[in-house]
Amino acid sequence: MIEIKSEREIALLKEAGRIVALCHEEMKKQVRPGISTKELNDICEKIILEHGATPSFKGYNGFPSAVCASINEVIVHGIPSSKQILKQGDIIAIDIGACYKGYHGDSAWSYAVGAISKKDELLMQVTHDALFKGLELVREGVHLGDVSAAIGNYATSFGFGVVEEFTGHGVGRNIHEDPPIFNFGVPGTGPILKEGMVLAIEPMVNAGTRKVRILADGWTTVTRDKSKSAHFEHTIVVRKNGYEILTTL
Ligand code: MG
Ligand code: MG
Repeated sequence: MIEIKSEREIALLKEAGRIVALCHEEMKKQVRPGISTKELNDICEKIILEHGATPSFKGYNGFPSAVCASINEVIVHGIPSSKQILKQGDIIAIDIGACYKGYHGDSAWSYAVGAISKKDELLMQVTHDALFKGLELVREGVHLGDVSAAIGNYATSFGFGVVEEFTGHGVGRNIHEDPPIFNFGVPGTGPILKEGMVLAIEPMVNAGTRKVRILADGWTTVTRDKSKSAHFEHTIVVRKNGYEILTTL
């Protein structure tokens, strides 16, 4: 069942999304060689709490931190640590969720640490653009499979691997709601979008194989071939003639 949110609920989701966007604004300034992922985590957690929200991921299925910080070959669910120091040439995906008055916002962004290789720049750009290739199709009446196919086909056209084990999702009073939103698919299939559906769309794209491995901590998910991975995500609301991004300022 895909919930349709009321405008009252959408206003709360928008405030949750704005708080997440404030964190990303700060991450743009803070991500640099020498900073630890724990420091980045703590900056985000402070911003979230200062705005009357709570970090959505902390304690979710036992996740220990406020945000996920996934460096290089880590695709998703990297656990921030004071021992994990960013180096020039790394790429890092920071996934941030905030819950405001019971409603969640969820957005991930990949960042370059100092100067990065052309190859990594392309990976990040293509993953970002894949998100928007999907988003530009979103409006009432469209099949979700159209959106999924647009994302997947764009990323694979560059020879990149599109992760299949993790998906986007509905967002509302729960951080993860129906439907799962695959980053690959067949046009004309899947649920039909309706105004008021709130969705987190989030391509995870690997420079090499799409295949993943989960490390012994039970969270950290890496590419099987150790190639780098990028991740971009926005929470949006479906409108009659398009969409509105909620995880923005
Ligand atoms: Mg997320
Ligand atoms: Mg998400």
